Amino acid sequence: MRWSRIYLYTTREIPADAEVVSHQLMARAGMIRKLAAGIYTYLPLGWRSIKKMMEIVRREMDAAGAVELSMPAIQPAELWQETERWEVFGDLLLRMKDRNERDFCFGPTHEEVITDFVRRDVRSYRQLPFNLYQIQTKFRDEIRPRFGLMRAREFLMKDAYSFHTSEESLAETYEAMRQAYCRVFEDCRLEYTMVEAASGAIGGSGSHEFMVLAETGEDAVVACSNGDYAANTEKAETGGLEPPPAEEPIEMREESTPGATTVAEVTELLGVGPEKLVKTMLYDTDVEPVAVLVRGDREVNEVKLASYLGVNHLQLAGEEKVERFTGAPVGFAGPVALSESVRLIGDESARPLVNFVCGANKADAHYVGVNWDRDVKVGEWADLLLVGAGDPCPRCDGTLELSRGIEVGHIFMLGAKYSKAMECFYSDEKGELHPMEMGCYGLGIGRTVAAAVEQNHDENGIIWPVPLAPFEVLVMSLNPQDDEVRRTADDIYDQLVAEGVDVFYDDRDERPGVKFKDADLIGIPIRVAVGAKSLAEGKVELSLRRDREKHLVAPAEAAARVGDLLAELGA
Ligand code: ATP
Ligand code: MG
Repeated sequence: MRWSRIYLYTTREIPADAEVVSHQLMARAGMIRKLAAGIYTYLPLGWRSIKKMMEIVRREMDAAGAVELSMPAIQPAELWQETERWEVFGDLLLRMKDRNERDFCFGPTHEEVITDFVRRDVRSYRQLPFNLYQIQTKFRDEIRPRFGLMRAREFLMKDAYSFHTSEESLAETYEAMRQAYCRVFEDCRLEYTMVEAASGAIGGSGSHEFMVLAETGEDAVVACSNGDYAANTEKAETGGLEPPPAEEPIEMREESTPGATTVAEVTELLGVGPEKLVKTMLYDTDVEPVAVLVRGDREVNEVKLASYLGVNHLQLAGEEKVERFTGAPVGFAGPVALSESVRLIGDESARPLVNFVCGANKADAHYVGVNWDRDVKVGEWADLLLVGAGDPCPRCDGTLELSRGIEVGHIFMLGAKYSKAMECFYSDEKGELHPMEMGCYGLGIGRTVAAAVEQNHDENGIIWPVPLAPFEVLVMSLNPQDDEVRRTADDIYDQLVAEGVDVFYDDRDERPGVKFKDADLIGIPIRVAVGAKSLAEGKVELSLRRDREKHLVAPAEAAARVGDLLAELGA
Protein backbone atom coordinates (compact mmCIF):
# COMPACT_ATOMS: atom_id res chain seq x y z
CA MET A 1 0.00 0.00 0.00
CA ARG A 2 1.23 3.47 -0.89
CA TRP A 3 0.81 6.39 1.48
CA SER A 4 -0.43 8.49 -1.44
CA ARG A 5 -3.35 6.06 -1.90
CA ILE A 6 -4.29 5.18 1.69
CA TYR A 7 -6.36 7.68 3.65
CA LEU A 8 -3.89 8.68 6.36
CA TYR A 9 -3.40 12.05 8.05
CA THR A 10 -1.16 12.28 11.05
CA THR A 11 -1.21 15.23 13.38
CA ARG A 12 0.80 16.72 16.19
CA GLU A 13 -2.34 17.79 17.90
CA ILE A 14 -3.39 15.79 20.93
CA PRO A 15 -7.19 15.60 21.21
CA ALA A 16 -8.31 17.56 24.27
CA ASP A 17 -10.03 14.52 25.79
CA ALA A 18 -7.13 12.09 25.23
CA GLU A 19 -5.91 11.34 28.75
CA VAL A 20 -3.89 8.22 28.06
CA VAL A 21 -1.04 7.65 25.70
CA SER A 22 -2.72 4.99 23.56
CA HIS A 23 -5.62 7.34 22.84
CA GLN A 24 -3.26 10.23 22.07
CA LEU A 25 -1.01 8.21 19.81
CA MET A 26 -3.73 6.34 17.94
CA ALA A 27 -5.51 9.64 17.26
CA ARG A 28 -2.29 11.40 16.24
CA ALA A 29 -1.26 8.48 14.05
CA GLY A 30 -4.49 8.82 12.08
CA MET A 31 -5.78 5.41 13.20
CA ILE A 32 -9.00 6.44 14.90
CA ARG A 33 -11.31 9.44 14.68
CA LYS A 34 -13.96 10.35 17.22
CA LEU A 35 -17.50 10.79 15.94
CA ALA A 36 -19.15 11.29 19.36
CA ALA A 37 -18.19 10.45 22.94
CA GLY A 38 -16.98 6.85 22.98
CA ILE A 39 -17.84 6.32 19.29
CA TYR A 40 -14.97 6.02 16.85
CA THR A 41 -14.24 5.51 13.19
CA TYR A 42 -11.42 3.07 12.60
CA LEU A 43 -9.50 4.82 9.83
CA PRO A 44 -7.66 2.59 7.32
CA LEU A 45 -4.42 2.33 9.32
CA GLY A 46 -6.30 1.62 12.55
CA TRP A 47 -8.58 -0.88 10.89
CA ARG A 48 -5.55 -2.88 9.72
CA SER A 49 -4.40 -3.37 13.33
CA ILE A 50 -7.94 -4.18 14.40
CA LYS A 51 -8.22 -6.75 11.60
CA LYS A 52 -4.94 -8.35 12.63
CA MET A 53 -6.21 -8.61 16.18
CA MET A 54 -9.42 -10.22 14.93
CA GLU A 55 -7.44 -12.72 12.85
CA ILE A 56 -5.33 -13.74 15.86
CA VAL A 57 -8.49 -14.21 17.90
CA ARG A 58 -10.22 -16.19 15.13
CA ARG A 59 -7.21 -18.46 14.72
CA GLU A 60 -7.08 -19.28 18.43
CA MET A 61 -10.84 -19.63 18.81
CA ASP A 62 -11.00 -22.01 15.83
CA ALA A 63 -8.07 -23.97 17.23
CA ALA A 64 -9.88 -24.26 20.59
CA GLY A 65 -12.90 -25.74 18.87
CA ALA A 66 -15.17 -22.70 18.91
CA VAL A 67 -17.27 -22.08 15.79
CA GLU A 68 -17.90 -18.62 14.37
CA LEU A 69 -21.33 -17.13 13.75
CA SER A 70 -22.72 -13.61 13.78
CA MET A 71 -25.67 -12.42 15.87
CA PRO A 72 -27.74 -9.24 15.49
CA ALA A 73 -26.69 -6.05 17.22
CA ILE A 74 -30.29 -4.99 17.88
CA GLN A 75 -32.12 -7.16 20.39
CA PRO A 76 -35.77 -7.27 21.50
CA ALA A 77 -36.54 -6.18 25.08
CA GLU A 78 -38.58 -9.33 25.81
CA LEU A 79 -35.45 -11.47 25.96
CA TRP A 80 -33.84 -9.09 28.41
CA GLN A 81 -36.99 -9.07 30.51
CA GLU A 82 -36.86 -12.86 30.76
CA THR A 83 -33.50 -12.65 32.54
CA GLU A 84 -34.41 -9.43 34.36
CA ARG A 85 -31.43 -7.73 32.82
CA TRP A 86 -33.64 -5.10 31.15
CA GLU A 87 -33.57 -3.55 34.68
CA VAL A 88 -30.21 -4.85 35.91
CA PHE A 89 -28.20 -3.30 33.09
CA GLY A 90 -29.75 0.08 33.89
CA ASP A 91 -28.42 3.03 31.95
CA LEU A 92 -25.64 1.00 30.34
CA LEU A 93 -28.28 -0.35 27.98
CA LEU A 94 -28.99 1.80 24.94
CA ARG A 95 -32.74 1.42 24.46
CA MET A 96 -34.82 2.22 21.42
CA LYS A 97 -38.28 1.72 20.00
CA ASP A 98 -39.23 0.64 16.53
CA ARG A 99 -42.12 2.16 14.51
CA ASN A 100 -44.56 -0.12 16.33
CA GLU A 101 -43.39 1.14 19.71
CA ARG A 102 -41.72 -2.17 20.51
CA ASP A 103 -38.73 -1.92 22.83
CA PHE A 104 -35.27 -2.92 21.68
CA CYS A 105 -31.73 -2.41 22.83
CA PHE A 106 -28.40 -2.30 21.12
CA GLY A 107 -26.72 -5.43 22.46
CA PRO A 108 -24.07 -4.88 25.14
CA THR A 109 -23.55 -8.68 25.26
CA HIS A 110 -25.34 -11.71 23.80
CA GLU A 111 -26.26 -14.29 26.46
CA GLU A 112 -29.98 -13.71 25.89
CA VAL A 113 -29.87 -13.93 22.10
CA ILE A 114 -27.80 -17.09 21.99
CA THR A 115 -29.76 -18.82 24.75
CA ASP A 116 -32.96 -17.98 22.88
CA PHE A 117 -32.04 -19.80 19.70
CA VAL A 118 -30.25 -22.65 21.45
CA ARG A 119 -33.39 -23.44 23.45
CA ARG A 120 -35.29 -23.75 20.17
CA ASP A 121 -32.69 -25.87 18.35
CA VAL A 122 -31.19 -28.13 20.99
CA ARG A 123 -33.25 -30.79 22.69
CA SER A 124 -31.00 -33.71 23.50
CA TYR A 125 -27.80 -34.38 25.41
CA ARG A 126 -26.52 -35.78 22.12
CA GLN A 127 -26.35 -32.26 20.67
CA LEU A 128 -24.06 -31.01 23.46
CA PRO A 129 -21.48 -29.62 24.07
CA PHE A 130 -20.73 -26.86 21.58
CA ASN A 131 -19.06 -23.48 21.67
CA LEU A 132 -20.04 -20.59 19.38
CA TYR A 133 -18.30 -17.24 18.97
CA GLN A 134 -18.60 -14.01 17.08
CA ILE A 135 -16.68 -10.80 16.66
CA GLN A 136 -19.25 -8.10 16.73
CA THR A 137 -20.06 -4.50 17.59
CA LYS A 138 -21.40 -3.93 21.09
CA PHE A 139 -22.85 -0.80 22.60
CA ARG A 140 -22.68 0.07 26.29
CA ASP A 141 -23.70 3.54 27.32
CA GLU A 142 -20.73 3.87 29.69
CA ILE A 143 -20.96 6.64 32.33
CA ARG A 144 -17.48 7.82 31.50
CA PRO A 145 -16.44 6.82 28.02
CA ARG A 146 -12.76 7.69 27.83
CA PHE A 147 -9.32 6.48 26.89
CA GLY A 148 -10.25 6.12 23.19
CA LEU A 149 -10.85 2.51 22.23
CA MET A 150 -10.16 1.34 25.77
CA ARG A 151 -13.46 2.44 27.25
CA ALA A 152 -15.63 3.21 24.28
CA ARG A 153 -19.40 3.07 24.04
CA GLU A 154 -19.45 1.35 20.68
CA PHE A 155 -16.72 -1.29 20.54
CA LEU A 156 -15.76 -4.61 19.02
CA MET A 157 -15.85 -7.65 21.23
CA LYS A 158 -15.19 -11.28 20.59
CA ASP A 159 -17.76 -13.15 22.60
CA ALA A 160 -18.11 -16.90 22.82
CA TYR A 161 -20.76 -19.01 24.54
CA SER A 162 -20.54 -22.70 25.33
CA PHE A 163 -23.34 -25.11 26.28
CA HIS A 164 -22.95 -28.35 28.22
CA THR A 165 -24.69 -31.20 29.99
CA SER A 166 -22.44 -31.11 33.05
CA GLU A 167 -20.12 -28.97 35.13
CA GLU A 168 -17.24 -31.26 34.11
CA SER A 169 -17.87 -30.63 30.45
CA LEU A 170 -18.09 -26.88 31.12
CA ALA A 171 -14.83 -27.02 33.09
CA GLU A 172 -13.13 -28.73 30.15
CA THR A 173 -14.17 -26.05 27.65
CA TYR A 174 -13.43 -23.30 30.17
CA GLU A 175 -9.89 -24.64 30.47
CA ALA A 176 -9.49 -24.84 26.68
CA MET A 177 -10.67 -21.24 26.39
CA ARG A 178 -8.39 -20.13 29.21
CA GLN A 179 -5.46 -21.57 27.31
CA ALA A 180 -6.67 -20.05 24.04
CA TYR A 181 -6.82 -16.63 25.72
CA CYS A 182 -3.26 -17.07 26.98
CA ARG A 183 -2.18 -17.87 23.43
CA VAL A 184 -4.00 -14.83 22.03
CA PHE A 185 -2.20 -12.43 24.37
CA GLU A 186 1.10 -14.21 23.84
CA ASP A 187 0.55 -14.03 20.06
CA CYS A 188 0.05 -10.28 20.49
CA ARG A 189 3.35 -10.13 22.46
CA LEU A 190 1.62 -8.54 25.40
CA GLU A 191 2.69 -8.75 29.00
CA TYR A 192 -0.43 -9.96 30.73
CA THR A 193 -1.59 -11.80 33.78
CA MET A 194 -4.65 -13.90 34.55
CA VAL A 195 -6.51 -13.09 37.75
CA GLU A 196 -9.50 -14.36 39.67
CA ALA A 197 -12.40 -12.04 39.00
CA ALA A 198 -15.81 -11.00 40.25
CA SER A 199 -18.52 -11.88 37.78
CA GLY A 200 -20.59 -8.67 37.99
CA ALA A 201 -23.79 -8.22 35.98
CA ILE A 202 -22.96 -11.19 33.74
CA GLY A 203 -23.20 -13.51 36.74
CA GLY A 204 -22.16 -17.09 37.35
CA SER A 205 -19.91 -19.04 39.67
CA GLY A 206 -16.29 -18.76 38.55
CA SER A 207 -14.49 -16.25 36.42
CA HIS A 208 -11.06 -15.05 35.40
CA GLU A 209 -9.86 -11.84 33.85
CA PHE A 210 -6.88 -11.27 31.62
CA MET A 211 -5.08 -8.09 32.53
CA VAL A 212 -2.50 -6.22 30.55
CA LEU A 213 -0.37 -4.56 33.19
CA ALA A 214 -0.15 -0.81 32.70
CA GLU A 215 -0.06 2.26 34.94
CA THR A 216 -3.13 3.64 33.23
CA GLY A 217 -5.20 0.51 33.82
CA GLU A 218 -8.58 1.14 35.41
CA ASP A 219 -8.47 -2.11 37.38
CA ALA A 220 -6.47 -2.79 40.52
CA VAL A 221 -5.09 -6.30 40.88
CA VAL A 222 -3.25 -7.96 43.71
CA ALA A 223 -0.78 -10.76 43.29
CA CYS A 224 1.23 -12.76 45.79
CA SER A 225 4.96 -12.27 45.58
CA ASN A 226 5.25 -16.08 45.57
CA GLY A 227 3.15 -16.30 42.42
CA ASP A 228 0.42 -18.58 43.78
CA TYR A 229 -2.43 -16.05 43.84
CA ALA A 230 -3.62 -13.18 41.67
CA ALA A 231 -7.01 -11.52 41.75
CA ASN A 232 -8.88 -8.39 40.84
CA THR A 233 -9.26 -6.34 44.04
CA GLU A 234 -13.01 -6.48 43.36
CA LYS A 235 -12.77 -10.15 44.27
CA ALA A 236 -9.51 -10.53 46.22
CA GLU A 237 -9.29 -12.24 49.60
CA THR A 238 -6.57 -12.14 52.25
CA GLY A 239 -5.12 -14.81 54.47
CA GLY A 240 -6.62 -12.83 57.38
CA LEU A 241 -5.30 -9.65 58.93
CA GLU A 242 -3.09 -9.80 61.97
CA PRO A 243 -5.29 -10.03 65.09
CA PRO A 244 -4.95 -7.29 67.71
CA PRO A 245 -3.09 -8.11 70.94
CA ALA A 246 -5.26 -9.80 73.58
CA GLU A 247 -6.88 -7.48 76.15
CA GLU A 248 -9.31 -7.83 79.02
CA PRO A 249 -12.65 -6.21 78.18
CA ILE A 250 -13.09 -2.86 79.86
CA GLU A 251 -16.29 -1.02 80.54
CA MET A 252 -17.93 0.82 77.69
CA ARG A 253 -18.08 4.59 78.10
CA GLU A 254 -18.99 7.59 76.04
CA GLU A 255 -16.35 10.16 75.13
CA SER A 256 -16.95 13.61 73.82
CA THR A 257 -15.45 14.02 70.32
CA PRO A 258 -16.61 17.43 69.15
CA GLY A 259 -16.35 17.91 65.41
CA ALA A 260 -14.34 14.69 64.96
CA THR A 261 -16.04 13.04 61.99
CA THR A 262 -13.13 11.29 60.28
CA VAL A 263 -11.18 8.27 61.45
CA ALA A 264 -8.04 10.41 61.60
CA GLU A 265 -9.71 13.06 63.76
CA VAL A 266 -11.28 10.57 66.16
CA THR A 267 -8.16 8.49 66.62
CA GLU A 268 -6.04 11.55 67.20
CA LEU A 269 -8.44 12.93 69.75
CA LEU A 270 -8.71 9.62 71.61
CA GLY A 271 -5.08 8.61 71.20
CA VAL A 272 -5.72 5.20 69.61
CA GLY A 273 -4.74 3.67 66.30
CA PRO A 274 -7.28 3.51 63.44
CA GLU A 275 -7.24 -0.30 63.67
CA LYS A 276 -8.96 0.07 67.08
CA LEU A 277 -11.93 1.79 65.49
CA VAL A 278 -15.00 0.29 63.87
CA LYS A 279 -16.46 2.30 60.99
CA THR A 280 -20.17 2.03 60.31
CA MET A 281 -20.96 2.52 56.64
CA LEU A 282 -24.62 2.90 55.71
CA TYR A 283 -25.46 1.71 52.19
CA ASP A 284 -28.55 2.19 50.10
CA THR A 285 -29.39 -0.84 47.96
CA ASP A 286 -32.18 -1.87 45.56
CA VAL A 287 -33.74 -3.77 48.47
CA GLU A 288 -33.08 -2.28 51.92
CA PRO A 289 -30.42 -0.13 53.52
CA VAL A 290 -27.63 -2.03 55.34
CA ALA A 291 -24.92 -0.93 57.73
CA VAL A 292 -21.50 -2.48 57.19
CA LEU A 293 -18.97 -2.57 60.02
CA VAL A 294 -15.35 -2.46 58.96
CA ARG A 295 -12.07 -1.87 60.76
CA GLY A 296 -11.20 1.84 60.93
CA ASP A 297 -8.07 1.57 58.81
CA ARG A 298 -9.77 -0.43 56.05
CA GLU A 299 -12.39 0.04 53.34
CA VAL A 300 -15.50 -1.89 52.34
CA ASN A 301 -15.32 -3.72 49.01
CA GLU A 302 -18.59 -2.67 47.38
CA VAL A 303 -18.42 -5.37 44.70
CA LYS A 304 -18.16 -8.06 47.38
CA LEU A 305 -20.96 -6.39 49.31
CA ALA A 306 -23.29 -6.30 46.29
CA SER A 307 -22.62 -9.93 45.54
CA TYR A 308 -23.06 -10.92 49.20
CA LEU A 309 -26.41 -9.12 49.31
CA GLY A 310 -27.40 -10.34 45.84
CA VAL A 311 -28.26 -6.80 44.75
CA ASN A 312 -27.38 -5.06 41.52
CA HIS A 313 -26.90 -1.53 42.77
CA LEU A 314 -25.73 0.02 46.00
CA GLN A 315 -24.22 3.27 47.12
CA LEU A 316 -23.27 5.02 50.34
CA ALA A 317 -26.37 6.58 51.86
CA GLY A 318 -26.66 10.34 51.83
CA GLU A 319 -26.54 12.62 54.87
CA GLU A 320 -30.27 12.77 55.30
CA LYS A 321 -30.63 8.99 55.38
CA VAL A 322 -27.69 8.56 57.76
CA GLU A 323 -29.35 10.95 60.18
CA ARG A 324 -32.69 9.22 59.84
CA PHE A 325 -31.27 5.74 60.59
CA THR A 326 -28.59 6.55 63.17
CA GLY A 327 -30.01 9.70 64.72
CA ALA A 328 -26.65 11.38 64.27
CA PRO A 329 -24.89 13.45 61.64
CA VAL A 330 -22.43 11.70 59.28
CA GLY A 331 -19.27 10.76 61.16
CA PHE A 332 -20.89 9.63 64.39
CA ALA A 333 -22.67 6.45 63.34
CA GLY A 334 -21.96 3.33 65.35
CA PRO A 335 -23.35 -0.18 65.70
CA VAL A 336 -24.49 0.03 69.33
CA ALA A 337 -28.29 -0.43 69.32
CA LEU A 338 -28.30 0.15 65.56
CA SER A 339 -29.59 -3.34 64.76
CA GLU A 340 -33.01 -2.13 65.86
CA SER A 341 -33.26 0.17 62.86
CA VAL A 342 -31.08 -1.40 60.16
CA ARG A 343 -29.57 -4.69 59.07
CA LEU A 344 -26.00 -4.92 60.44
CA ILE A 345 -23.28 -6.84 58.62
CA GLY A 346 -19.83 -7.13 60.12
CA ASP A 347 -16.73 -7.48 58.01
CA GLU A 348 -14.51 -10.29 59.29
CA SER A 349 -11.65 -7.77 59.70
CA ALA A 350 -13.51 -6.14 62.59
CA ARG A 351 -14.48 -9.35 64.35
CA PRO A 352 -11.35 -9.90 66.50
CA LEU A 353 -11.43 -6.35 67.90
CA VAL A 354 -11.85 -5.86 71.64
CA ASN A 355 -12.41 -2.59 73.47
CA PHE A 356 -12.88 -0.78 70.21
CA VAL A 357 -14.04 2.74 69.40
CA CYS A 358 -17.15 3.56 67.41
CA GLY A 359 -19.63 6.37 66.87
CA ALA A 360 -22.26 6.87 69.59
CA ASN A 361 -25.11 7.69 67.19
CA LYS A 362 -25.28 11.21 68.44
CA ALA A 363 -23.45 14.32 67.45
CA ASP A 364 -19.94 14.89 68.84
CA ALA A 365 -19.68 11.60 70.75
CA HIS A 366 -17.99 8.20 70.38
CA TYR A 367 -18.03 5.09 72.51
CA VAL A 368 -14.79 3.65 73.83
CA GLY A 369 -14.27 0.13 75.20
CA VAL A 370 -16.95 -1.40 73.00
CA ASN A 371 -17.09 -5.19 72.68
CA TRP A 372 -19.01 -7.52 70.41
CA ASP A 373 -21.89 -9.50 71.92
CA ARG A 374 -21.83 -7.62 75.20
CA ASP A 375 -22.46 -4.19 73.60
CA VAL A 376 -23.25 -4.95 69.98
CA LYS A 377 -25.06 -7.96 68.57
CA VAL A 378 -24.11 -8.65 64.97
CA GLY A 379 -26.04 -11.44 63.29
CA GLU A 380 -24.00 -11.61 60.11
CA TRP A 381 -20.28 -11.68 59.47
CA ALA A 382 -18.82 -11.81 55.96
CA ASP A 383 -15.64 -11.08 54.06
CA LEU A 384 -16.36 -7.60 52.70
CA LEU A 385 -12.82 -6.28 52.87
CA LEU A 386 -11.10 -4.33 50.13
CA VAL A 387 -7.74 -6.07 49.98
CA GLY A 388 -4.63 -4.01 49.44
CA ALA A 389 -0.87 -4.03 49.15
CA GLY A 390 0.91 -5.70 52.06
CA ASP A 391 -2.01 -7.93 53.06
CA PRO A 392 -1.26 -11.61 53.62
CA CYS A 393 -1.79 -13.99 50.70
CA PRO A 394 -4.77 -16.33 51.13
CA ARG A 395 -2.77 -19.26 49.72
CA CYS A 396 0.65 -19.07 51.39
CA ASP A 397 2.64 -17.00 53.85
CA GLY A 398 3.53 -14.48 51.14
CA THR A 399 2.44 -10.87 50.85
CA LEU A 400 0.12 -9.33 48.29
CA GLU A 401 1.37 -6.64 45.93
CA LEU A 402 -0.84 -4.19 44.13
CA SER A 403 -0.63 -3.19 40.48
CA ARG A 404 -2.83 -1.70 37.80
CA GLY A 405 -4.19 -3.54 34.82
CA ILE A 406 -6.31 -3.15 31.72
CA GLU A 407 -8.96 -5.87 31.54
CA VAL A 408 -8.67 -7.21 28.01
CA GLY A 409 -10.51 -10.49 28.45
CA HIS A 410 -12.98 -11.99 30.85
CA ILE A 411 -14.19 -15.59 30.98
CA PHE A 412 -17.10 -16.86 33.05
CA MET A 413 -18.53 -20.15 34.22
CA LEU A 414 -22.15 -19.11 34.03
CA GLY A 415 -23.58 -22.40 35.17
CA ALA A 416 -27.36 -22.51 34.72
CA LYS A 417 -28.10 -18.84 35.41
CA TYR A 418 -29.38 -18.03 31.92
CA SER A 419 -30.55 -21.49 30.91
CA LYS A 420 -32.80 -21.63 33.99
CA ALA A 421 -34.15 -18.12 33.52
CA MET A 422 -34.85 -18.77 29.83
CA GLU A 423 -35.78 -22.45 30.05
CA CYS A 424 -32.97 -23.65 27.88
CA PHE A 425 -33.27 -27.36 28.67
CA TYR A 426 -31.96 -30.62 27.24
CA SER A 427 -33.17 -34.12 27.90
CA ASP A 428 -30.75 -36.71 29.26
CA GLU A 429 -30.55 -40.46 28.43
CA LYS A 430 -33.61 -41.11 30.55
CA GLY A 431 -35.57 -38.33 28.92
CA GLU A 432 -35.38 -36.10 31.98
CA LEU A 433 -35.08 -32.35 31.42
CA HIS A 434 -32.18 -30.27 32.80
CA PRO A 435 -31.01 -26.71 32.29
CA MET A 436 -27.84 -26.54 30.20
CA GLU A 437 -24.56 -25.54 31.84
CA MET A 438 -23.12 -22.48 30.13
CA GLY A 439 -19.83 -20.65 29.84
CA CYS A 440 -19.15 -17.28 28.24
CA TYR A 441 -15.92 -15.75 27.11
CA GLY A 442 -15.39 -12.07 26.21
CA LEU A 443 -12.38 -10.35 24.71
CA GLY A 444 -12.10 -6.68 23.76
CA ILE A 445 -10.64 -6.27 20.29
CA GLY A 446 -10.08 -2.50 20.34
CA ARG A 447 -9.16 -2.47 24.00
CA THR A 448 -6.43 -5.06 23.41
CA VAL A 449 -4.98 -3.08 20.49
CA ALA A 450 -5.01 0.07 22.65
CA ALA A 451 -3.41 -1.88 25.52
CA ALA A 452 -0.65 -2.93 23.13
CA VAL A 453 0.07 0.75 22.51
CA GLU A 454 0.07 1.48 26.25
CA GLN A 455 2.77 -1.16 26.62
CA ASN A 456 4.73 -0.35 23.47
CA HIS A 457 5.57 3.28 22.79
CA ASP A 458 8.16 5.97 23.42
CA GLU A 459 8.06 9.78 23.42
CA ASN A 460 7.99 9.80 19.61
CA GLY A 461 5.18 7.39 18.98
CA ILE A 462 3.95 3.84 18.83
CA ILE A 463 6.31 0.86 18.68
CA TRP A 464 4.02 -1.85 17.35
CA PRO A 465 4.62 -5.45 18.28
CA VAL A 466 4.85 -7.08 14.83
CA PRO A 467 1.61 -9.11 15.11
CA LEU A 468 -0.55 -6.01 15.63
CA ALA A 469 1.37 -3.55 13.45
CA PRO A 470 -0.80 -2.06 10.68
CA PHE A 471 2.07 -2.97 8.35
CA GLU A 472 5.24 -4.88 9.16
CA VAL A 473 7.60 -2.91 6.93
CA LEU A 474 7.80 0.73 5.89
CA VAL A 475 9.73 1.79 2.78
CA MET A 476 10.47 5.51 2.60
CA SER A 477 11.73 7.48 -0.34
CA LEU A 478 13.41 10.44 1.34
CA ASN A 479 13.95 12.50 -1.81
CA PRO A 480 11.16 11.45 -4.14
CA GLN A 481 12.04 14.11 -6.76
CA ASP A 482 15.38 12.41 -7.24
CA ASP A 483 14.75 9.86 -10.01
CA GLU A 484 17.23 7.36 -8.72
CA VAL A 485 15.93 7.53 -5.19
CA ARG A 486 12.37 7.10 -6.38
CA ARG A 487 13.24 4.25 -8.72
CA THR A 488 15.24 2.43 -6.04
CA ALA A 489 12.49 2.84 -3.44
CA ASP A 490 9.88 1.74 -6.00
CA ASP A 491 11.97 -1.34 -6.81
CA ILE A 492 12.41 -2.35 -3.17
CA TYR A 493 8.72 -1.81 -2.52
CA ASP A 494 7.69 -3.81 -5.61
CA GLN A 495 10.02 -6.62 -4.67
CA LEU A 496 8.64 -6.78 -1.11
CA VAL A 497 5.08 -6.75 -2.44
CA ALA A 498 5.98 -9.55 -4.84
CA GLU A 499 7.36 -11.54 -1.92
CA GLY A 500 4.10 -11.11 -0.06
CA VAL A 501 5.59 -8.86 2.63
CA ASP A 502 3.11 -6.67 4.51
CA VAL A 503 4.67 -3.40 3.36
CA PHE A 504 3.71 0.26 3.40
CA TYR A 505 5.40 2.79 1.14
CA ASP A 506 5.83 6.44 2.09
CA ASP A 507 5.96 7.79 -1.46
CA ARG A 508 4.73 11.26 -0.47
CA ASP A 509 6.42 14.38 -1.65
CA GLU A 510 7.44 15.44 1.85
CA ARG A 511 10.71 16.42 3.53
CA PRO A 512 12.74 13.62 5.15
CA GLY A 513 12.22 15.18 8.60
CA VAL A 514 8.45 14.95 8.19
CA LYS A 515 8.69 11.36 7.01
CA PHE A 516 10.88 10.24 9.90
CA LYS A 517 8.61 11.92 12.42
CA ASP A 518 5.57 10.23 10.92
CA ALA A 519 7.39 6.91 10.76
CA ASP A 520 8.14 7.17 14.48
CA LEU A 521 4.57 8.10 15.22
CA ILE A 522 2.88 5.28 13.30
CA GLY A 523 5.46 2.86 14.63
CA ILE A 524 5.89 0.28 11.87
CA PRO A 525 8.49 -2.22 13.14
CA ILE A 526 10.92 -2.37 10.20
CA ARG A 527 11.97 0.62 8.15
CA VAL A 528 13.84 0.89 4.85
CA ALA A 529 14.93 4.47 4.11
CA VAL A 530 16.11 5.31 0.62
CA GLY A 531 17.86 8.70 0.48
CA ALA A 532 20.13 10.50 -1.97
CA LYS A 533 23.05 10.66 0.45
CA SER A 534 23.44 7.00 1.27
CA LEU A 535 22.38 5.97 -2.22
CA ALA A 536 25.38 7.93 -3.60
CA GLU A 537 27.45 5.37 -1.66
CA GLY A 538 25.34 2.55 -3.04
CA LYS A 539 23.44 1.95 0.20
CA VAL A 540 19.98 2.14 1.74
CA GLU A 541 19.26 2.25 5.47
CA LEU A 542 17.50 -0.50 7.36
CA SER A 543 16.39 0.06 10.95
CA LEU A 544 14.02 -1.23 13.58
CA ARG A 545 11.55 1.14 15.19
CA ARG A 546 12.41 -0.34 18.56
CA ASP A 547 16.18 0.05 18.71
CA ARG A 548 16.91 2.53 15.88
CA GLU A 549 20.25 0.98 15.04
CA LYS A 550 20.92 1.63 11.34
CA HIS A 551 22.19 -1.04 8.99
CA LEU A 552 23.50 0.12 5.62
CA VAL A 553 22.87 -2.42 2.88
CA ALA A 554 23.00 -2.48 -0.91
CA PRO A 555 19.58 -1.82 -2.50
CA ALA A 556 19.64 -5.23 -4.14
CA GLU A 557 20.03 -6.90 -0.74
CA ALA A 558 17.40 -4.84 1.03
CA ALA A 559 14.45 -7.18 0.48
CA ALA A 560 16.42 -10.22 1.63
CA ARG A 561 17.61 -8.40 4.76
CA VAL A 562 14.07 -7.31 5.53
CA GLY A 563 13.13 -10.98 5.35
CA ASP A 564 15.89 -11.81 7.86
CA LEU A 565 14.74 -9.06 10.22
CA LEU A 566 11.15 -10.25 10.03
CA ALA A 567 12.28 -13.75 10.85
CA GLU A 568 14.29 -12.43 13.81
CA LEU A 569 11.22 -10.58 15.05
CA GLY A 570 9.32 -13.83 14.77
CA ALA A 571 6.84 -12.51 12.20
P1 ATP B 1 -15.22 -3.19 32.42
O1 ATP B 1 -15.17 -3.77 33.79
O2 ATP B 1 -13.90 -2.71 31.92
O3 ATP B 1 -16.33 -2.22 32.21
P2 ATP B 1 -16.70 -5.47 31.76
O4 ATP B 1 -16.22 -6.35 32.83
O5 ATP B 1 -18.00 -4.82 31.85
O6 ATP B 1 -15.58 -4.38 31.45
P3 ATP B 1 -17.12 -7.71 30.02
O7 ATP B 1 -18.58 -7.72 30.07
O8 ATP B 1 -16.36 -8.69 30.79
O9 ATP B 1 -16.60 -6.23 30.36
O10 ATP B 1 -16.70 -7.68 28.49
C1 ATP B 1 -15.70 -8.49 27.92
C2 ATP B 1 -14.56 -7.65 27.37
O11 ATP B 1 -15.03 -6.61 26.51
C3 ATP B 1 -13.77 -6.93 28.42
O12 ATP B 1 -12.83 -7.79 29.00
C4 ATP B 1 -13.13 -5.82 27.61
O13 ATP B 1 -11.95 -6.29 26.97
C5 ATP B 1 -14.16 -5.51 26.56
N1 ATP B 1 -14.91 -4.29 26.93
C6 ATP B 1 -15.87 -4.17 27.85
N2 ATP B 1 -16.33 -2.91 27.92
C7 ATP B 1 -15.64 -2.20 26.99
C8 ATP B 1 -15.65 -0.84 26.57
N3 ATP B 1 -16.47 0.04 27.12
N4 ATP B 1 -14.80 -0.45 25.58
C9 ATP B 1 -13.96 -1.34 25.03
N5 ATP B 1 -13.90 -2.63 25.39
C10 ATP B 1 -14.72 -3.07 26.35
MG1 MG C 1 -15.34 -7.98 32.77
